[in-house]
Amino acid sequence: MKKKEVVNDTLNNIKKAFYYAKKQKKEFILYFIANILLAILGAIVPLLAANQLLKLTDGLLGDLFLISLVILGMEISVNFCRFFARKYSQVFAREILKNIQVDLAKQLLNIETIDLDKKSSGVFIDRLVRDTGRIADIFLNINMSFTDLITNIGILFAIFVINKILFIYYILGILVIFYFERQRIKKYNELDKHYRKSAEATTGLIGELVRGIRDIKVLNASKSFMKKINEKITNINQERYEMSNVVRKYNLFTGSIHDFLDFLYILLSIILITNNLVSIGNVVIIYMYKGRVFNLLTMTSQVMEWFKDFNLSASRVFEIIDSSLYKKEVFGNKHINKIKGDFEFRDVYFSYNKKKKVLDGINFKVKHNETVSFVGKSGAGKSTIFSLLARLYTPDMGNIYIDGINTKELDCDSIRGNISIITQNPYIFNMTIKENFTIIKEDITDEEIVKACKMAKLHDYIMSLPKGYDTLVGEGGITLSGGQKQRLAIARALAQKTEIILFDEATSSLDNETQEGIQDAIHNMKNKYTILIIAHRLSTVINSDRILLVDKGKIVDEGTHEELLLKNKQYKKLYNLELKDKS
Ligand code: ADP
Repeated sequence: MKKKEVVNDTLNNIKKAFYYAKKQKKEFILYFIANILLAILGAIVPLLAANQLLKLTDGLLGDLFLISLVILGMEISVNFCRFFARKYSQVFAREILKNIQVDLAKQLLNIETIDLDKKSSGVFIDRLVRDTGRIADIFLNINMSFTDLITNIGILFAIFVINKILFIYYILGILVIFYFERQRIKKYNELDKHYRKSAEATTGLIGELVRGIRDIKVLNASKSFMKKINEKITNINQERYEMSNVVRKYNLFTGSIHDFLDFLYILLSIILITNNLVSIGNVVIIYMYKGRVFNLLTMTSQVMEWFKDFNLSASRVFEIIDSSLYKKEVFGNKHINKIKGDFEFRDVYFSYNKKKKVLDGINFKVKHNETVSFVGKSGAGKSTIFSLLARLYTPDMGNIYIDGINTKELDCDSIRGNISIITQNPYIFNMTIKENFTIIKEDITDEEIVKACKMAKLHDYIMSLPKGYDTLVGEGGITLSGGQKQRLAIARALAQKTEIILFDEATSSLDNETQEGIQDAIHNMKNKYTILIIAHRLSTVINSDRILLVDKGKIVDEGTHEELLLKNKQYKKLYNLELKDKS
């Protein structure tokens, strides 16, 4: 990347980061004033200090006392200014971190599902936790180094006033060290970029480990999983080691250069003293400042390093927020509070990866309060129809209408606020049972929760628990059985009072009693809601008003159970197969 682009990028990123602390204008102004004062004092104090030493070597003790008094006053002011500069920069960094994290979390929820499908969760966790922290850090680091930087420039100026030749020596020394520091930063950043990618992958895999811990145990996959984890952790630690190796090697090198520059300084001083071009006192004074002057450089390169770090993190965070890489869901502006529950798919085509058509011209209409079932082989596209209706994905072609309105025109609440999907494995939040309801509807009353649970045939079970509705359900609802999770999801949908309920019916892995419980729960809802069921067992669809037969992304037939038995061979075959399984 060209230098100009880097500068533009940095300025752009700072501007974006500043936006997150826009309410902290007062703090920023105070921070700025404190830093200006520090810069002024930082430039004056070293000059006075040099003067102080000259007075001492000249034996002017009265003047020395006066200067010392002024320096004391100034140093105390410096301390106060530093205190306030730090305080306000911390407030600033805190606000930026807080607001950026909240915004990023919000934007994550807005990313198109299709883009989320492609990424591991590690990518997002790392950016949310680590990168946002690094963005905020720049405001803390810059504050601390900024004032030191100014002080040290003041010292350099003092050296210029005392002796021009030694000043030139310092400038040349600074340039030499700067050159090597630049090389180090370049190398370090290359490694760091790579390291962050590996860190993301490792976080993702650890996430898998934690979430899938039970399945890993049951699948007896601990060994192979550990092999993968071991590989990743070893790699990432090796990369970190290589990064510190770069620092170590360069430190060894620049350390020796510092020593060599010291030697040169003494050599130069001897020549200057013998030629009466500088006093011994001044050589001592300037030598005392050596550390701080060379520090100027380390600091400059450090500041550059921080900025590189900042830029890297900022681009990773802002590419999510600004949708440059991750597309955001787009909804229309039309709002309907309560829908009737009619909907229609008209010539809908869809594919997940543009290669394989998953929905191949779907057409169907459902009237409100109808119960319609979808039947077909696994992979036929049934769940995809549900996902499209809930606007988790957008059709490649064709339109979906709710109450006669194209869903493209509707806002998010009008669609998702009116549709619930109950999947085979619903996500239950690691909260109490009651909180699993309040998270979807903040103002829900206890009576409403109990009513929904009664309808979903879950109330009796909940009451048998020692803490009843205040029972914690564990991560992913781990303490609930598959059927109970589904019934809780049904109760959640009922409590949400959405008009359309999409139900990906339980698999045959659930026992009969649970199946019946869920059947009853659905039966309770019939004719009150528009219900769509993906049926894995034909016995559950017999009571539907209509059955749609899905095959290879198309609706190939429809009718009631009896009608289909008579007219559709494929349906009859599926039915007979199931009867055979039962007998
Ligand atoms: P069904 O519900 O009828 O079993 P699905 O709608 O789940 O079928 O899947 C239809 C096809 O789309 C399958 O080939 C499946 O592999 C694919 N598919 C489903 N979800 C995704 C996804 N998130 N990304 C890519 N392909 C998917």
